[in-house]
Amino acid sequence: MKTENIRVRFAPSPTGPLHIGGVRTALYNYLFAKKKQGTLILRIEDTDQNRFVAGAEKYIVESLAWCGLEFDESPEKGGPYAPYRQSERSEIYKTYIKLLLENGTAYYAFDTESELDALREEAKTKGGKTFQYDSQSRKSLKNSVSLPEQETAALLESGIPYVIRIKIPENETVVVNDLIRGEVVVNSSNLDDKVLFKSDGLPTYHLANVVDDYLMKITHVIRGEEWLPSAPLHVLLYRSFGWESVMPKFAHLPLILKPDGNGKLSKRDGDRLGFPVFPTAWTDPKSGELYSGYRESGYLPEAVINILAHLGWNPGIEQELFTKDELIDLFSLERVGKHGSKFDPEKAKWFNHKYLQLKSDKELLLYLAPLLAKHEVTPSPDYQLSVIHLVKDRVSLIPELWSNSWYFFLRPSDYDQQVYQKIWQPGTTGLITDLAAEITALPEFNKAIFHDLVQQYTVKASVKMGQIMNPLRLLMVGSNQGPGMMDMAVIIGKTEFLERIALGLKTLTGK
Ligand code: GLU
Repeated sequence: MKTENIRVRFAPSPTGPLHIGGVRTALYNYLFAKKKQGTLILRIEDTDQNRFVAGAEKYIVESLAWCGLEFDESPEKGGPYAPYRQSERSEIYKTYIKLLLENGTAYYAFDTESELDALREEAKTKGGKTFQYDSQSRKSLKNSVSLPEQETAALLESGIPYVIRIKIPENETVVVNDLIRGEVVVNSSNLDDKVLFKSDGLPTYHLANVVDDYLMKITHVIRGEEWLPSAPLHVLLYRSFGWESVMPKFAHLPLILKPDGNGKLSKRDGDRLGFPVFPTAWTDPKSGELYSGYRESGYLPEAVINILAHLGWNPGIEQELFTKDELIDLFSLERVGKHGSKFDPEKAKWFNHKYLQLKSDKELLLYLAPLLAKHEVTPSPDYQLSVIHLVKDRVSLIPELWSNSWYFFLRPSDYDQQVYQKIWQPGTTGLITDLAAEITALPEFNKAIFHDLVQQYTVKASVKMGQIMNPLRLLMVGSNQGPGMMDMAVIIGKTEFLERIALGLKTLTGK
């Protein structure tokens, strides 16, 4: 039942590809919105022109779509509070910063970067507190609080660059009520007068974020823990605007940690440790460096969603595999933990394996098709289905559909010499040649018939099953890989099987 008008947003900055931590934030917002029959908004926070990366927004939109996370309002879709790209809202922020200047909760600051750097240096050499632009230091700095009114007016008139800072009150208690962490209390004297508006005429993240959350009627801010230190400032901004009564509720999600638990999973960790940390592959437009993605590595979006759902949220029941609808049904912020969750790449693969097994053989045809095309083979759909049926349970990642089945479509081009040395005994060539003759004579070839024949043959020749089966497998696939030998033989069919035996014997033994 719809009780309140829930509105949440995912607000990425297009500074690069979306890390899986970001996808998880989007997912939790999505699940929360759906569960509450609320509205999910995608807002692109692109006011920091220095960090803008070409193609990043497109990447974000496409990779979230691949994950199956749709938005109700977004730059593409539009909506009642458009535009949803902050770079298109600069006039709005100008209006709102004016309100703060007028009510005295923000002020102009004319200090140059080099002046501020000098102060930071000085504080460092003195070894005391790091320099902070705050209620104390602002008194002696170049700003509209310390300077006489006329001087400020003259400076503004002169056109020299300035920024606008928030005037953080001295010694006030600021409380952030976090739905996950409870009460987070800070003293305002520990906060600095953050820049709200830059000299380039654009707002900083803090101002744009709060103004937009207010204007877009956001009820819950669900975001990563790295934003928790900014939350007191945001609370003060709501206070400065007089919007405290409609301030959204905050929920800061725990970090996703490296597999060994030592620190936050970073963008570089994935390829270093051999698993993707991005939903889809990304090529850095500047360096040309390629980062692997879940999609390209052969994960299903439903598995990725499920992997991420478990990183921080606990369903509270034994079940581990959920459909998206089940996740929506079960999700609650109360079940999101405070502590970081270690990313477990093996478990991620396990999830994907499980989701692949839930697909019907027919559905998997779709995933096999591009692999077959790549290798230029065109088997019939029925043939593909019987192969899929046989190998599916060995597959964890989509490309393994090929690595576990190529020998059904292609003959081996070489034979594993190590296996050959190990299994080939002096009598093997003769045994296999005789058996091949018996197979040739079979009027019909199926698993039962083949099985009986081999069994009788082992008795007759006084050999063990393995002495026949292992060489046959090597001749058929070129190694000791693959599912049941007889199953494979029956699928490739008698003619092909016999031809592979002949070809293999010739290559390996010259006979
Ligand atoms: N633009 C911020 C980011 O890149 C959004 C933080 C927030 O959700 O408030 O993560």
